[in-house]
Amino acid sequence: MRLATAAIHVGQEPDAVTGATVPPIHITSTYTQESPGVHKGYEYSRTANPTRVALEKCLAAIEGGEAATAFPSGLAATNALFANLRPGDSVVSYADVYGGTYRLLEKCFRPWGLDARYTNDPSPKAFDALMDKTTKLVWLETPTNPLLRVIDIAAVAEVVRARGAKLAVDNTFATPALQLPIKLGADYVVHSSTKYLGGHSDVIGGAVICKRAADAEPIATYLNAAGSCPGPFDVYLTHRGIKTLAVRMEAHCRNALAIAEHLAGRGKGKGPAGGAKLSRVVYPKLEDHPDRAIAERQMCGGGGIVTIVFAEGFAAAKRFCERVKVFSLAESLGGVESLVNHPAIMTHASIPREVRESRGITDGLVRLSVGIEDVRDLIEDIEQGLG
Ligand SMILES: *Cc1c(COP(=O)(O)O)cnc(C)c1O
Repeated sequence: MRLATAAIHVGQEPDAVTGATVPPIHITSTYTQESPGVHKGYEYSRTANPTRVALEKCLAAIEGGEAATAFPSGLAATNALFANLRPGDSVVSYADVYGGTYRLLEKCFRPWGLDARYTNDPSPKAFDALMDKTTKLVWLETPTNPLLRVIDIAAVAEVVRARGAKLAVDNTFATPALQLPIKLGADYVVHSSTKYLGGHSDVIGGAVICKRAADAEPIATYLNAAGSCPGPFDVYLTHRGIKTLAVRMEAHCRNALAIAEHLAGRGKGKGPAGGAKLSRVVYPKLEDHPDRAIAERQMCGGGGIVTIVFAEGFAAAKRFCERVKVFSLAESLGGVESLVNHPAIMTHASIPREVRESRGITDGLVRLSVGIEDVRDLIEDIEQGLG
């Protein structure tokens, strides 16, 4: 079944008792048994809840994995994956990953005995160079945040497989609508469903999707043992959001590309003159993007994020963030509404300045999470913001 169909139908069979086309939300902590140990497959909602199971089936189907486990946040999902490693193991990761992933590795897992190694070079050779016998997991995120570097998943997967390790891809930015890491060789896909999967900025959630059902077992066991389970209302909202993922991603990509092209043309005298000057417009489908060839191969759309750099630095970036009206100044991304974020002060503030700047996250950089509003209103808002 293809994504748009699976997103709507998998886990959403009409209710067996009433025929309700949309299955009910199962608001229950426990399940009545006929006789001790005789039940309908559910005993206690930390272990399993039908609303959560419905979402998990859907997630596995849309990512092309055999099984999925839903968590109450993206970081809880990431945590479950790292927690299944052992002290003395190592993880190799691209350096420019989600700040919370870096914090989890450094603040929680390094003291516990997990060694994390980071490469600034996203080439397969660079990942390979950091791997040894202790390396059990390679972690990557593509496109990266906020510089939108695109990493070749298939090429890294080959290196990881040759070493006998496993590959996890954080697919939060691209979603299965744009790229399918498991098809490209990944063993795990991790999501912050808070972003595009949920899609409406109204719920925090996460998931681990496994290529093989056998790999999902220890993750579900960890969820049950450690107690990190999402509630039925939250998983319902996430599942409801996923039903429109395919059309939303098309709209996000269309709007983001139009904005990226408009802003890139602006510097070349194609747009209105005057106002703040941009020294860079970053979008994976623009001709000058350093990883455009990989993006063309790997992603069937550029995604909904456009990153811009103000030539005049912080003051101009700040002024723009304050002036835009349709774009809300807020952290997070991936919702139907457009957001603007200043990474150096907001989402990426915990990264030391030198490290941040060495990665190109300067004080003049602004990240746009382009929503699905009418793009003419978005471009007009950006123009008046640039003033
Ligand atoms: C937001 C985000 C996370 C963390 O997810 P939460 O749901 O906030 O815990 C992980 N990875 C990426 C790429 C993210 O954008």
